[in-house]
Amino acid sequence: MKCVYCGKEYSEGGTTINVSNGTFDVCSNECKKLVRDYLNRDMQYKNRSYIMIFCGSIGFILSTFFFSGKYKLVPMYLGMIIMGLALIIYPYIFSSFITFTRYPIKKATAAVRIIGAAVIVASLVFLVLTFMGV
Ligand SMILES: [Zn+2]
Repeated sequence: MKCVYCGKEYSEGGTTINVSNGTFDVCSNECKKLVRDYLNRDMQYKNRSYIMIFCGSIGFILSTFFFSGKYKLVPMYLGMIIMGLALIIYPYIFSSFITFTRYPIKKATAAVRIIGAAVIVASLVFLVLTFMGV
């Protein structure tokens, strides 16, 4: 069996957790509790993360339709920073369609945060380059 939270393979001592889309194996009560916490936060903050991503997407619209010239992409970069922050603060956006058995929650959360951080760093670099006139 494989723990849906930490991804550890185990043969005994585990338990299971029932969630809306099925029953999953967890290696310990600790991981079971962490899955519950994750699902609670997911429900609690999903709307906020979508609102932040929506705000970020406004930047793309501004860049595409309303800005031109040297600073055309600035709203898009700012939007990307908002989206990156949303991924870091609320890394729950994939929970509804990710297969936890393939991507343990712990790894999926870490991966989403790393992507968020990478997006922010890239956006900041592009912003600096824009304003330095490169
Ligand atoms: Zn575990």
